[in-house]
Formats: sequence, structure tokens, C-alpha cells
Amino acid sequence: RAKGQGGGGYVLFDRGMHETALRRLDLELDLRRALERDQFEAYYQPIVRVADRRLIGFEALVRWNHPERGLISPADFIPLAEESGLIVHIGRWMLHQACAQMRAWQLAFPRRPALTVSVNLSARQLLHPDILPEIRRTLRQTGLSARHLKLEITESAMMEDAERAIELLETLKRTRLKLMLDDFGTGYSSLSYLHRLPIDVLKVDRSFVMHMHERSEDRSFVETIVNLAQKLGRPVVCEGVELPEQEALLRELGVEYAQGYLYSRPVTAAQAQMLIIEDAARFARKRRG
Ligand code: C2E
Ligand code: MG
Ligand code: MG
Ligand code: MG
Repeated sequence: RAKGQGGGGYVLFDRGMHETALRRLDLELDLRRALERDQFEAYYQPIVRVADRRLIGFEALVRWNHPERGLISPADFIPLAEESGLIVHIGRWMLHQACAQMRAWQLAFPRRPALTVSVNLSARQLLHPDILPEIRRTLRQTGLSARHLKLEITESAMMEDAERAIELLETLKRTRLKLMLDDFGTGYSSLSYLHRLPIDVLKVDRSFVMHMHERSEDRSFVETIVNLAQKLGRPVVCEGVELPEQEALLRELGVEYAQGYLYSRPVTAAQAQMLIIEDAARFARKRRG
């Protein structure tokens, strides 16, 4: 916000701020039209079992194919979408897309043990009054069963209205879907709230995993979270695994699941389908010896 100059009641922007404001407005207008213009795409990143790298599911991650600016990453538009409320529409689209896709894969690969899909929910979506009926409707429309859907919620999203979030999560749990605490370790009230949150899986934030092979403090931190999760009986997914050294440490610590560039970057649905096929082939071979 620009500071008023003198008492005249008008506001002067410097050129930089003006350009930033215009660019933002531009982006917001584009964002409003992006849905109807079909510019969003769901990408999928594998989540694997650390012990043997078996594929257990995917996280759905939104991408925006902007006609002039190219592929825009969510970090560059989710905050804007969140502020403007557009996230509710984008999120609805993503949920539907991800559920429909997972259902299609289940029908295409009936002999494959069930894969799951995780969808990110922002604070705005979580607190939206229609979120529950919307999730139920999406499952019904796509034919995906609730136990194959996971919702990823960050601690900060829950803390916007913790009481209400807890109540809602309890209700969601009764529909048998799984809840994941995303970016775990980056929030403030983790420990005090953790035992009250009806969370099934903890996702340890990438920032802790990133340096664990070279910094013993980071390693201790991950270890502490993993021990805590194990005591609480919650499995852990570590995000942002890029190096075999990190994977080896996670194995030692007994971390169940991992996600990261070491296994695969987020990829298109068509590429993700190839990963399912490769994984199935690899494990069919193993079974035959
Ligand atoms: P997130 O939910 O924590 O997702 C994980 C992010 O880490 C993804 O970034 C993923 O591409 C990235 N990542 C995974 N493995 C690695 C790795 O080994 N190294 C590095 N450097 N990065 C890795 P992405 O796709 O850019 O998404 C960023 C964030 O945007 C997400 O963080 C999530 O908070 C939000 N987001 C993405 N899609 C959606 C969506 O559909 N709805 C909502 N509400 N938020 C979304
Ligand atoms: Mg996530
Ligand atoms: Mg995360
Ligand atoms: Mg993260």
C-alpha cells in the first residue's frame, strides 16, 4: 500500500509499485478466466514405500498452462488464488480431476493393489461451508471410494480456525478417507495440537529432508519427528527426497513412505500411467523370482 503524500487524500505510487500492482491485477484477471479456458492441469507425483520403492499412490499438484507465460507453478498463483477466493473453484476442479483420474486407473489396472491419490486443501477450502457435501458428491460422481482419497492439509491451514477444523476433520474421517498433515514441522503449534488432530499420516516438510545427509541437526530433527509419529502410531511420508543418501537415512530411521525427485518429479497423467505400468512390471518380476 502506498503512503499518502501530504494531506490531499490522494495517493502516489512509485513506478515499481504501480507495475507490481498492475501485474498482479493482470494475473488475477487471467486466473479468473483460466478455469473456463481449461488452462489448469493436474500433475501427479509418486509416493513410494521406502523399503522397496513400491508405488503406493500419487499426490495431485495443480499446474497452470498460461498462454503467454508458459507453465506457472502453484507457488506463484496459489497465494493469489487463496486471497481472491478463486482457490475454492480451482480446488473443486482439482478434487474432481484427481478422483476421476484415480478411478480410471483403478479400472484400467484392476489387478494392481489399490493406489491412492492425495489432494491438497487450502485453508479457504477447508473452511468453506460446502466442503463436506462437495467431497461426498465428487466421490459419488467419480465412483472413487473414500479410502482411496487422501486430503493434505497444512498445519497453518488448520490453525486458522482450529476448533472448526478439528470438528470438520472428525466428520471427514467418518467418511473413511485419510487425512495427511502437510509440511509438518514448519508450523508453530505442532506438538500441542498434534494429539488432538484426527490425522492419519504426517508429511515431513522438504526443508528438513533436504540437508539431513550433511547436517546432523537436520537428521536429528527428522529422527525426532519420526519417533514422535511412531509413538503416536502415525505413518510418515518424507517429502523432497532427492538423493540416495537421504533415502538410506530414511530407511535406517524406519520411515515408511517417501516422495521426491529421486523417484520422480510431478508428471502428467499420461506419464504417471507409465509409472504405474513400470511399477507393476517390476513387482510381477520380483514375485516370479
Ligand atoms: P506441497 O503440497 O508441499 O507439495 C510438494 C511440493 O514439493 C510440490 O511443489 C512438489 O513439486 C515439490 N517437490 C516434491 N519433491 C521435491 C524434491 O525432491 N525437490 C524439490 N525441490 N521439490 C519437490 P509444487 O507442485 O510447486 O507445489 C507447491 C505447493 O503449492 C504445494 O506444496 C501445495 O501447498 C500447493 N499446491 C499445489 N497444488 C495445489 C492444489 O491443487 N491445491 C492447493 N490448495 N494447493 C496446491
Ligand atoms: Mg501437499
Ligand atoms: Mg508438503
Ligand atoms: Mg511443502
